[in-house]
Amino acid sequence: MAKTHYKLIILGGGPAGLTAGLYAARARMDHLLIEKGAEGGQILLTDWIDNYPGFPEGISGFDLAEKMTAHAKRFDLNSMFGNVLSMDLTEPIKHLTLEDGPSLSCDTLIICSGAHPRPLDVPGEKEFTGKGVSYCATCDAPFYRKLHVAVVGGGNTAVQEAAHLTKFADKVTLIHRRDELRATKILQEKAFDNPKIDFIWNSTATKISGTEGVEELHLLNNDGKESILKIDGVFVLIGVLPNNEMLPLEILKADEGGFIPTDLETRTAVAGVMAAGDIRSKEVRQVINAAGEGATAVLAAENYFTNLS
Ligand code: NAP
Repeated sequence: MAKTHYKLIILGGGPAGLTAGLYAARARMDHLLIEKGAEGGQILLTDWIDNYPGFPEGISGFDLAEKMTAHAKRFDLNSMFGNVLSMDLTEPIKHLTLEDGPSLSCDTLIICSGAHPRPLDVPGEKEFTGKGVSYCATCDAPFYRKLHVAVVGGGNTAVQEAAHLTKFADKVTLIHRRDELRATKILQEKAFDNPKIDFIWNSTATKISGTEGVEELHLLNNDGKESILKIDGVFVLIGVLPNNEMLPLEILKADEGGFIPTDLETRTAVAGVMAAGDIRSKEVRQVINAAGEGATAVLAAENYFTNLS
């Protein structure tokens, strides 16, 4: 009979999950990492990562994901692809229900389910997703060769990906709801110096329209003025929402945004359950933090067993 119980299950294979997998495998812990899509998580949506130590020239998100996966596999990471639909964390043995798969159980669980792009929630957005509305410049930039695209957002993702888009598009208009970017200064400087990027400040997108594909982005300035920007594509890069649909939020005492609070050792409100990476309730969401939290979480899982005995 196939094995269904593990000492440790790691939910998610982004930087947090892969680092947890590396640490668990090296500690020779009985473990399983479950990933729903492709190993790498959100870094697969990132064109270039310039601030992960050890890569002085920078590295593409895709390559970093590949390297992290290969690194964990070198130590015999045990992983599977599967979609966890729900879980029961009310007893010391935790139970996970998978779509098209066996029910699995574990003594300790590290939740690294990550986050996904926040939608604008305006008319036309859903209708034109994949037809001019995108949440991933790395994936879709080549479709906009010599065209004019808008980027909505003022954080690191919006500013960094706007620069990436200029490799393809003739013009990138960044629309931000305030008059100051949230992005880190070095990214701001690069964007301000880029002749292909212009800015519309103090404005929000209210509607996306077109016929076959996106043609117009409707804007509302903070002073109440409305305008329409003729555009070939809209990249919505306005932050993230938690991937928490499979989590029992009440027992995990999720915060208002649906992220999972933990202590410094990544322990959640449920004994034996840790959370690491972007699903954690926190201010800073960087690859380096996610990796560090994945390592910390495995040490917390080991301590859980030590404290039991
Ligand atoms: P973020 O830092 O939360 O920024 C979201 C941006 O979107 C903010 O400028 C925000 O405006 C704006 N925004 C939010 N809701 C909006 C709405 N409904 N309409 C219009 N604008 C809206 O998100 P992020 O840029 O996706 O980054 C997510 C995390 O990943 C952050 O922790 C970030 O530092 C990290 N990250 C790091 C790097 C890097 O280090 N190179 C690269 C990418 C991402 P306000 O500024 O007015 O709030």
